[in-house]
Amino acid sequence: MSIMNEYIEEAEKDLLHTYNRFQVVLDKGQGVHLYDMEGKSYLDFVSGIGVFALGYGDTEYNDALKAQIDKIIHTSNYYYNMPAINAAHKLKKISGMDRVFFTNSGAEAVEGAIKAARKYAFLKDNSTDHEIIAMNHSFHGRTYGALSVTGNPHYREAFEPMIGNIRFADFNDFESVKSQVTDKTCAIIMETVQGEGGIYPATEEFLKNVRQLCDEKDILLILDEIQCGMGRTGYMYAWQKFGVKPDIMTTAKALGCGVPVGAFLMTEKVGANSLVAGDHGTTYGGNPLAAAAINKVLDLFETKHIIDNVREVSEYLEEQLEELKKRHDCITCRRGSGLLQGLEFDHPVAETINAALEHGLILINAGANVIRFIPPLIITKEDVDEMISILEPCI
Ligand SMILES: *Cc1c(COP(=O)(O)O)cnc(C)c1O
Repeated sequence: MSIMNEYIEEAEKDLLHTYNRFQVVLDKGQGVHLYDMEGKSYLDFVSGIGVFALGYGDTEYNDALKAQIDKIIHTSNYYYNMPAINAAHKLKKISGMDRVFFTNSGAEAVEGAIKAARKYAFLKDNSTDHEIIAMNHSFHGRTYGALSVTGNPHYREAFEPMIGNIRFADFNDFESVKSQVTDKTCAIIMETVQGEGGIYPATEEFLKNVRQLCDEKDILLILDEIQCGMGRTGYMYAWQKFGVKPDIMTTAKALGCGVPVGAFLMTEKVGANSLVAGDHGTTYGGNPLAAAAINKVLDLFETKHIIDNVREVSEYLEEQLEELKKRHDCITCRRGSGLLQGLEFDHPVAETINAALEHGLILINAGANVIRFIPPLIITKEDVDEMISILEPCI
């Protein structure tokens, strides 16, 4: 048995079995390539599920983290720290939002967003029976609040009861959303591009209609940009493409490019009328190391013209995926936005993904029949060509 297989066997004895992992132990990364512990190289079209936007081993990023480690890693949120102050300022600038709360993960950002929305409603009428509308096939995370608004009954079933007063509507179906609105509705939460649910971008019309509905009824629009945000769609945040600004938004994944961070952001209207001292907190959120990562990531997005690259390469990726679809009848649909793309097959894709891994290409699914393409944002057209040339024989 190879040493790698021994490690995998060990892992299966020690780790709680909550993931069906690919049979590979990854050891290091460089650029858009990952290497397993036996030195085999893989072209990475998953980027740690949309986390490693800048690719692996970026020297400037690594040096910034090392410098921060030597200065101070943690302080607690009872004190100010410079990296967090700078990161909040930059995040406001790229998002156009007004207030920032740093978390350690995406799910925690969703928790905070839900709490802020409920508090906002509570301050209006002093009651606690408000409702939130979430979308079928959505994914917002595994903690109780986030799971409660996740539109996948299979993920929720064994863990009921969820937090109360959540209603589900169909994504991209405005009539369905309207039919769930009551005078108790305090928020509507959705991903701007549904990720785990199969790569479905919200249509401009749907977003605009929901925004208008929210404005009319003082319902808060919460957009979850954890997967589709941070430049992935060719805009810093996916909603910016249509100018449909949320009242509260969540961001994580690529925000720290590997260091576990997240944030929820809100407009001044919500900031001034929701969470106050004592309402919410976290030990680690926005600690100096995490915030240093955010600062460097946001700087590198500018100096490396990441958004420009996404726009250029994603156009090419879309073309190549469309060509691939034409050549294979079993591919039924391509959809997505920017460097978040999905190819839907008329059969489960697990075998194809495993074969690709065998041939040195890392891919992931989004639902049983959809291959998801969510590469580092620094990929080139040559990387796209290489990806297609490895994937095609595996279909
Ligand atoms: C990944 C994800 C989350 C959860 O983030 P974690 O960091 O895993 O807690 C929430 N919403 C969306 C859209 C995601 O893709």
